[in-house]
Amino acid sequence: MSYTELQNKAVTVRKEHRCVWCGETIEGQAQYRAYVFDGDFMTDYMHLECYEAMANSDSEYLWEGFDAGQFSRGREAEWEDSDE
Ligand SMILES: [Zn+2]
Repeated sequence: MSYTELQNKAVTVRKEHRCVWCGETIEGQAQYRAYVFDGDFMTDYMHLECYEAMANSDSEYLWEGFDAGQFSRGREAEWEDSDE
């Protein structure tokens, strides 16, 4: 598994984008990321608060992949088996 980040910045979106974290529509400010993941060029948009939530979540689980809308807006990832 490889991950190379190309861009990661807050942008103002002119078109509507779907947040890959919560699945809701983003208007206005978004966190834009461009990266190469296992040889594939990818881009995605997130709400600023969702990006922050992701940063605060356990990345070990995020490597497994997740679906748009799997999490709640601005909420950290919650995993059923993550009781520590
Ligand atoms: Zn979101």
